[in-house]
Amino acid sequence: MATTHSADVIIVGGGIGGLTAALSLHAAGIEPLVLESAREVRPLGVGINLQPAAVRELDELGLLDDLAALGVPAVEHAFADGRGRTLFGEARGTAAGYHWPQFSVHRGELQMMLLDAVVKRLGPEAVRTGVQVEDFEETADGVRVHAVDRSTGGRLGFSAEALVGADGIHSTLRALLHPDQGPLQWNGVTMWRGVTEEDAFAPGNAVVIAADDKNTQFVAYQISRAALDRRPHAGQLGLSGADGRARRPGGGRQLERSGHDRGSAAALRGVGVRLDGPAGSVRPQ
Ligand SMILES: Cc1cc2nc3c(=O)[nH]c(=O)nc-3n(C[C@H](O)[C@H](O)[C@H](O)COP(=O)(O)OP(=O)(O)OC[C@H]3O[C@@H](n4cnc5c(N)ncnc54)[C@H](O)[C@@H]3O)c2cc1C
Repeated sequence: MATTHSADVIIVGGGIGGLTAALSLHAAGIEPLVLESAREVRPLGVGINLQPAAVRELDELGLLDDLAALGVPAVEHAFADGRGRTLFGEARGTAAGYHWPQFSVHRGELQMMLLDAVVKRLGPEAVRTGVQVEDFEETADGVRVHAVDRSTGGRLGFSAEALVGADGIHSTLRALLHPDQGPLQWNGVTMWRGVTEEDAFAPGNAVVIAADDKNTQFVAYQISRAALDRRPHAGQLGLSGADGRARRPGGGRQLERSGHDRGSAAALRGVGVRLDGPAGSVRPQ
């Protein structure tokens, strides 16, 4: 097998973790190569919340303004019962005293933001897509990585001084490093994700977490700065407070939702929520 490329460090996975690691290594003067199995990086996913410690890392990489242009700072986690009545709220981000905000953002847009930064700073050759890493071996001076080119089926080899596994929840590298651990355990919860653009229903930029007595949860929060700017006066829908009075929402909104069955997915479609995935499919998390 011919080695087609060598780098200081090889990062397996061009997701949020892998791309951020690439930017951090580059900032430290180390040149990484990212190997990503997807043939094309596309803005997949829905909502994700970045806690202050993660936002701090992106700030130190000079990406805070870019992040603020995409996402929405979350100022509160509002816990509600199954009828939408607020039980209690917990301040988040700077409202909770952190130096950095918590950001709610579209996962795919965040990934594309990171990819843009990697391409600008490290060059387009720093990320190789369509490369599925299958194995690695330690050598006298580093590591050799074995992969497959998903377009041609050809074998590829890469050498580096170090290898970083950022290949997600079903990590190949983790399985190779810890073969005795077996697959991850599923806790039995099925999560459905969806997104829609409508009037806001939560006060300010709260992440609303509602649960009923059947242990079904509904999580909803805004993820889009652009949608918020399109609907600056939105706010006709509202959570009711413990006193039954409507709480005034702040702006545009998104939906993310978790449930247990297909009926939950149908209910979401019924209110116009576009689901992240084929209708009726079940996606264990
Ligand atoms: C398509 C997608 C959609 C998601 N949507 C959401 C969401 O809506 N909300 C949420 O909270 N979380 C979501 N997640 C999970 C979330 O992105 C991660 O849990 C979190 O960001 C941690 O990032 P990560 O870089 O460790 O993993 P990930 O973001 O999962 O990235 C891992 C990357 O590694 C690549 N990869 C995997 N195996 C190999 C291999 N053998 N060789 C090369 N590359 C490999 C994958 O293609 C992927 O791009 C999603 C993940 C993915 C992949």
